[in-house]
Amino acid sequence: MSTFQAPKGTYDLTPPSSATFLAVREAISAPLRDSGYGYIETPGFENVELFARGVGESTDIVTKEMYTLTTKGGDQLALRPEGTASVLRAALEANLHKAGNLPVKLWYSGSYYRYERPQAGRYRHFSQVGAEAIGTEDPVLDAELIILADQAYRSLGLRQFRILLNSLGDKECRPVYREALQTFLRDLDLDEETRRRIEINPLRVLDDKRADVQKQLTDAPKLRDYLCDACKAYHEEVRALITAAGVVFEDDEKLVRGLDYYTRTTFEFVHDGLGSQSAVGGGGRYDGLSEMIGGPELPSVGWALGVDRTVLALEAEGVELDLPATTSVYAVPLGEEARRVLFGVVTELRRAGIAADFAFGGRGLKGAMKSANRSGARYTLVAGERDLAEGVVQLKDMESGEQTAVPLTEAAAELAKRLG
Ligand code: ATP
Ligand code: MG
Repeated sequence: MSTFQAPKGTYDLTPPSSATFLAVREAISAPLRDSGYGYIETPGFENVELFARGVGESTDIVTKEMYTLTTKGGDQLALRPEGTASVLRAALEANLHKAGNLPVKLWYSGSYYRYERPQAGRYRHFSQVGAEAIGTEDPVLDAELIILADQAYRSLGLRQFRILLNSLGDKECRPVYREALQTFLRDLDLDEETRRRIEINPLRVLDDKRADVQKQLTDAPKLRDYLCDACKAYHEEVRALITAAGVVFEDDEKLVRGLDYYTRTTFEFVHDGLGSQSAVGGGGRYDGLSEMIGGPELPSVGWALGVDRTVLALEAEGVELDLPATTSVYAVPLGEEARRVLFGVVTELRRAGIAADFAFGGRGLKGAMKSANRSGARYTLVAGERDLAEGVVQLKDMESGEQTAVPLTEAAAELAKRLG
């Protein structure tokens, strides 16, 4: 192993490609920020019970994927594997749900950790942007979140994604279905672990990725046939609202997702260019989660979109984001005196809000101009001894190649004018 290798299943974001990650986080959160969602940030770790209870003791996330640790003080902590339980915990702790307006609408962006088998699109450290709307049961809210995720992906230029939609029922109808499903599953030819899962969380067997298991599930009872009237009506309303918004979706009755806390509306965004790690995001309603972690009844809905996989989806579709150059002006000094003078101009530009950079290290003209080109700067300022003697700097337009001598004292103002 090389000394400089990041841990297995992780990778670094470095320039220039890191700019794409920032732009994706920005694009995903923009529709949320414009829709009344406030920013929330929670710690990278939590007490382990929060996830054990919140995400579900029997989920892969809790049984296999969670990074847990014991602190020197004896506390059992877990690196956060997902955002929802933490955000709800934080909202309850801060009493946001008592402050007046419900729903409490929050968005977040951060790193998440799961001990998974690393492969393309599946990492041990990954990044999500998420949204939660806490404390209100209203199909318009479910629709809002689906529409905003669709808007975020579209604003990035993604087109080859699909929205899968399902309803998981509520505490009235889901138990009836659960029992019918268990009866069906107990007769199948399944391994020990899956048989155990039938007893703890049978719906998750439907999510099994293995082909031989899926084959046996063809005739499994369908949740749709068991939904109570209230859940059916709720689901129809969500479908009608997103249809009216022109958002295309597919009904997927097998969609259950990996977390225990979902009720009613459940959805996943999949991208067809990603191979087996096709889910770029997912979410749904989690009406029982607050009570599960010891809080009051707070019906809620949310989603989390994977930043890493969204970047892979952009690559798969060949979408190049239109990222503005980070540097507008690049200064190239020739000689000691020019260094001091041009650095002064660069500082002046920066204070005026103009992105400017400088050829450090006293390099020659050729190397410095290469750096100027690479920086993407629109203008270069060059000055040598003769220019300074005349009280000017050479201002070069990097697009047209045109070069003009500008009085030193007016250089910053001239650039501000040209850059608008
Ligand atoms: P999968 O079925 O692929 O394991 P999941 O259901 O576990 O996904 P969620 O918990 O719903 O995923 O997380 C939401 C999004 O976060 C996923 O759609 C995906 O884009 C991203 N994600 C989840 N796990 C990883 C991971 N290990 N590496 C990279 N991205 C991930
Ligand atoms: Mg997973």
